[in-house]
Amino acid sequence: MNKHINETDIQREIERLVAKGYESAWGSPDLRQIAKHTLEINRLKKAKNAVIAGHVYQRPEILLGVSDFIGDSYKLAKDCANSKAKTIVFCGVKFMAETAKILSPEKTVLLPAPNAGCTLSDSIGASDIKKLKDKYPGAPVVTYINTSVAVKAESDCIVTSANAPKILKKLYKKHKRIIFLPDRLMGTNLAKKLNKKIGKEIILWDGTCTVHEHFDPSTISHYKRAYPGLKALAHTECSSDLISKVDFAGGTSGMLEYVKRTNAPYYLLITECGLGELARSEFPNKKFIPMCRLCKFMKFTTLKNVKTCLQNPTKNQTINVNEKLAKKALKALNKMFELAG
Ligand code: SF4
Repeated sequence: MNKHINETDIQREIERLVAKGYESAWGSPDLRQIAKHTLEINRLKKAKNAVIAGHVYQRPEILLGVSDFIGDSYKLAKDCANSKAKTIVFCGVKFMAETAKILSPEKTVLLPAPNAGCTLSDSIGASDIKKLKDKYPGAPVVTYINTSVAVKAESDCIVTSANAPKILKKLYKKHKRIIFLPDRLMGTNLAKKLNKKIGKEIILWDGTCTVHEHFDPSTISHYKRAYPGLKALAHTECSSDLISKVDFAGGTSGMLEYVKRTNAPYYLLITECGLGELARSEFPNKKFIPMCRLCKFMKFTTLKNVKTCLQNPTKNQTINVNEKLAKKALKALNKMFELAG
């Protein structure tokens, strides 16, 4: 144990974690062990003028124990940009930390788990977009935020799961055809929502999220029968078959908002398991039925690698983006801020 941490400090930290809803999210794990780490990390943060951004799919000890900001990749990138801290520790996956660096080039951005990739982001490269642009000249390239800097740099506008319908609707006023990348399932859901023909009015790429593509739509009716009054909520990275069976489809922030403003006896959150854990701590009086999958990339971040990264970041943990690409990517991100209002 760190010699500056005593038993009273640990007890107080355990109480703080419990008050934040840690136990309702995760049962009763070894809080003492967790408290020792979170105490040290929170002290290190202050000493280093750092803040921690935690994506909603992160482990509960990261979200409730050490995160200054919690949210989806869009909210976190904005929170980091607005922060006065010198260093940002991004608990999430690589494309998210890169987005934070694009929006905050003067800050040091650290990614505790440098191997935290994403199947959507890894499904496409800049050269793929160049080929699509040659094939469909004049069609704007609208890219989901889950992509690398190089891919964002080749795009005209970035979107999130929440603002994609609104931005596409605006762009269709000027364009007959749009290239939407890289999520095929989200693209299919958008095509249905906006009544656009796939392959003609909306050109898709074959990327998928390994977590959301595997949910089985046939199980929804089983849950609805077993839990009368249940509301099913799904992320728009799921298949359109599944989306057609749920009560709400959107991004993670939209799902939490829906839970907040409704009063159902049960909620089924069809997404990565971290969101359900967070929802249980935020809404301890509501009932959540487990149907979720883990994203292994999101779970690469642990209290241990957050601590070592704050103490002595390695080269791999320090996010650097090519300046020229970052400038182009920023243009596409700014287009999103403009069109999303
Ligand atoms: S949940 Fe899916 S989209 Fe999110 S980081 Fe994991 S693989 Fe990527």
